[in-house]
Amino acid sequence: MDALFCIPMLSVFLIPVLSSYSTTLNFLFFYMTWSTLVLSHTPLRVEMFGTIAVRLIFYALPSIIMFLFDILTPSASVVIKAQGATGLPGGKRRRNIRVRELKIAGWSLLNLFMSIMLQWVIEALCVKAFKMRSTVKVALKLPMPYEMVRDLILGLLAREALTYGIHRYALHESNSILTKFHHFWYHQLHAPFPLSAHYDHPLTYLLSNFIPTYLPAVMFRFHMLTYLIYLVIISVEETFAYSGYTVMPTNFFLVGIARRMDMHLLTYGEGNFGPWGIMDWIFKTTVGDAELIDDATDDAEEREREARAKRAYEAAQKKSNANVRPSKVQAQSVRGRR
Ligand SMILES: [Zn+2]
Repeated sequence: MDALFCIPMLSVFLIPVLSSYSTTLNFLFFYMTWSTLVLSHTPLRVEMFGTIAVRLIFYALPSIIMFLFDILTPSASVVIKAQGATGLPGGKRRRNIRVRELKIAGWSLLNLFMSIMLQWVIEALCVKAFKMRSTVKVALKLPMPYEMVRDLILGLLAREALTYGIHRYALHESNSILTKFHHFWYHQLHAPFPLSAHYDHPLTYLLSNFIPTYLPAVMFRFHMLTYLIYLVIISVEETFAYSGYTVMPTNFFLVGIARRMDMHLLTYGEGNFGPWGIMDWIFKTTVGDAELIDDATDDAEEREREARAKRAYEAAQKKSNANVRPSKVQAQSVRGRR
């Protein structure tokens, strides 16, 4: 409660300008809302509803809107796609969206839902079953700004290191079943598109996305507010980095991450394992320059052409088999009559 009285008093004596009053009032209202929330709900409920709200507002809803924009108005969306028509959910087929693209969107949302449920289970086990303290700190006392900044920097660096290590060594440079899952699920995408940030086999998704996101918050025992800001940063990054668009809120940062994600898919995972590229830069696993992007886009288009031809061939083969079968049956019945 000290902060509640201390800051308004400081404002009255030290910074007597109108703007400081409005800042103080905003802070006061914020603190009142926060304390009402913490006092009227259990910490578990505050953490889970906060997580769901941030994930919905900053990831799920904008990604669903972008996905619908891509599949319903491909001619408008293709203009701002870094990889042109290849970057659309249906690839070059544009309007011809198949069940596969809808399945990818469905799995992404299901994975996200599963990760929130798992967080709920972990937190409930810690607090209720093992009578331990909660993994994320839900307290009335607000963290100091420098503590929030310090925790955010540490958390994001830990997430970068964990994602890099798991993605590179467990999902690419090993012969485990997880590597196969990652290749047969995520690496079957021709390019990232909205919602594909959370698309992968559920097991590999939990290992390479949920753990690197949640573990730093547990390791540094974030305050709930720090955790929400941390989750907002990650959700916004995932929404835009996997959109495939060239137009983004912060061009130098998000566009850089987005092109790195493009290159990871286009080169079949030769590099760019971490989201921000810090670890790739340290371990020299960065891939991607303008020429390489062009070559890789051509390769992706070639692969798509081959896959289309293969599907058409298989469909034609099935059709001809279906036509042949009745004539065989007819021949047998004629033979039988003789
Ligand atoms: Zn990969």
